[in-house]
Amino acid sequence: MPLLGFGTWQARGTECYDAVRVALDAGYRHIDTATMYGNEAEVGRALRDSGVDRAEVFVTTKLPPERAGRERRTIDASLKALGIDQLDLWLIHWPPRGRSTEVWQEFIAARDAGLTRAIGVSNYSSRQIDALTKETGETPSVNQIKWGPALYDADEVAAHRERGVVLEGYSPFKTTNLRDKDLVAIAEAHGVTPAQVIVRWHLQHEFVVIPKSVTPDRIRTNFDAFGFTLSDEEIRRIDGMSR
Ligand code: NDP
Repeated sequence: MPLLGFGTWQARGTECYDAVRVALDAGYRHIDTATMYGNEAEVGRALRDSGVDRAEVFVTTKLPPERAGRERRTIDASLKALGIDQLDLWLIHWPPRGRSTEVWQEFIAARDAGLTRAIGVSNYSSRQIDALTKETGETPSVNQIKWGPALYDADEVAAHRERGVVLEGYSPFKTTNLRDKDLVAIAEAHGVTPAQVIVRWHLQHEFVVIPKSVTPDRIRTNFDAFGFTLSDEEIRRIDGMSR
């Protein structure tokens, strides 16, 4: 799973298609969508038209909790809209109240049937993850949660790592003050933007990060986070934005 992916929430229609084309052109090889975003068809069309080999791109989509009981129909519809025959990762978008275990069993069945390579959850607490493991013997591979420097919590990181669950962050920019003076100073020291520092901070911590943009320049610069390294001291200062 590439640590740096491309988010697509709130990107619809042509805007979404164009953004995913720019992202694939810029080098992103991981795209995050969801049934709820209503843009799987545009993501799929952009993927096909890009000329990038399907096998090179990690594709995630998500089942909305209100589809509990209709899991197979939902993944079939996602695959059809995306125009692919297997997902890389399928997530339960939010915990379906009282039905998490049943839904998770359907996820396991879909994975075993080859419809997705991996399965995971989103917006789950460690307690909710433990309940799934206890009841089915299968731990989610990934938990996608709201994350960024302002939400950094070493205990949360440890809880994921102890369970072998990949921490995938969402809303990296929306949860951060991009004008924070420490962040701006660190960005200036490296000749990059605060957004690039945020992405780099995720990569160095080995958190998956999926920034969204429909602005071509931002799509490209957000991906350009491999040419500089934050020092341990800078990482600690950024971790400190959560205090
Ligand atoms: P982000 O933190 O990625 O922020 C997106 C916003 O930041 C947009 O308004 C975008 O504007 C702007 N932006 C992008 N790049 C820059 C930049 N370099 N400088 C300044 N502003 C910038 O928020 P999201 O909530 O979209 O989260 C990312 C992805 O995570 C989503 O797209 C979705 O795929 C996923 N997600 C999952 C959730 C879940 O429940 N599992 C919930 C929320 C998100 P513009 O597009 O106009 O350039």
